[in-house]
Amino acid sequence: MVVRRGADAMKPALPIDWTAVSEEAVALLAEYLRVDTVNPPGNETRACEWLGRVLSAEGISFQTYAREPSRASLVATLPSTGARGRSLILLNHTDVVPAEAEHWTYEPLSGAISDGYVWGRGAVDMKGMAIIELMVFLLHRRLGLPLARDLTFMAVADEECGSGYGTEFLDEHHPGVLDSDFVINEGGTGAHEVLGVRRPVFHVGVAEKGPLWLRLHTRGTPGHGAVPHDDNALERLIRALERVQRWERPLRAAPEVVAYFAALHRAGVLPKPPSADYLELLARDHARVHSLQTNSISLTSLHAGVKHNVIPSAAEATLDVRLMSGYDPEQFIEELRQQIDDPRIGIDVVFSSSTPPSPTNTDLYRAIEASVRQHVEDAAVIPSVSTGFTDLRVFRRRGIPAYGFVPLLLEPEDAARIHGNDERLAIDSLELAIQVLFTTVREVCG
Ligand SMILES: [Zn+2]
Repeated sequence: MVVRRGADAMKPALPIDWTAVSEEAVALLAEYLRVDTVNPPGNETRACEWLGRVLSAEGISFQTYAREPSRASLVATLPSTGARGRSLILLNHTDVVPAEAEHWTYEPLSGAISDGYVWGRGAVDMKGMAIIELMVFLLHRRLGLPLARDLTFMAVADEECGSGYGTEFLDEHHPGVLDSDFVINEGGTGAHEVLGVRRPVFHVGVAEKGPLWLRLHTRGTPGHGAVPHDDNALERLIRALERVQRWERPLRAAPEVVAYFAALHRAGVLPKPPSADYLELLARDHARVHSLQTNSISLTSLHAGVKHNVIPSAAEATLDVRLMSGYDPEQFIEELRQQIDDPRIGIDVVFSSSTPPSPTNTDLYRAIEASVRQHVEDAAVIPSVSTGFTDLRVFRRRGIPAYGFVPLLLEPEDAARIHGNDERLAIDSLELAIQVLFTTVREVCG
């Protein structure tokens, strides 16, 4: 990996001591990880208070927006001349998922600094990125850098539980806050290794699969377990679920999925271009590659029964379906109904979100490419598709180009700790990440 750092990479050179910036970021991250925003219950107002203190100390004003007092989100903006447009939003979520402390080396909320890492729940997802964004934001303020687009730092609540107190709340009650030219958020990261091949790759998330959470339910006739009959709700549901599991669906790659694998081929990660046959072959070895080419279904819960010798009168199951981007949820539900082929199985939609991909022919995407090339000569920049979903969806459905771009180069081992045990951020990856994001912002807002 060829990395150029600091003044060598900056044109023109700015008086920035990147080592000091990185040290400050480590100290801030350790402190921020100690702010308990485990969701549920969230308590994200604590994060807003902490961030607010940091911003106030720099003389930066901010706004908070809250559906409930304990669940605020924070927005701060550095104003511009407006010569190039409205604004770039640096988005991050303040909540973190719970941690099983008994399986951790350090207390999950300790922010321990050890062995070259900052440890803690949220170190990567995504308080680490919040601090990278915050440092870039503070540098603009401290250096008084000219802006031709507003630069907005936005820290939102509740991403890990559906965003009802965060971006969805803002979208519904304060839509003007989300108005912008571009958004950078989680949803794509840098990686030292992709599909087992060692080479620095920066993923830029441009599309996400569409979550479609379904509840299947049915009723039957209750009775004594000693006298079986053919109107047992649980048995009917099991038959339906078996048909769902046996459902063979041909693999199909959406244009943005093909573009993603074509870019991996150009980057030398894949030996062949992404023909349908080759993608099918890859899907056999890589569950993620398979998921990208299908409307995936995971059975996630089953509820029925009250007692060992009582035939239950009702049964229900939940399915976590992830549609290929652009796939019509109504069409999928109709196909599912035909596959189950039993009118007594009801299908309810619990949550559905389907958003178009963001284009790559934008000023921000070009700025990201230019910045990465400037800092890591041999890195590839790849427009990627995520199997999961993030707050980007709220912006994409408003037509705002929104990218997942966390410029940390992660090792596979550390990526696997996200939402798992011993989540940690490598300190030596932090300085480069701040520089890459800083140059990106200068390119698109300067
Ligand atoms: Zn996250």
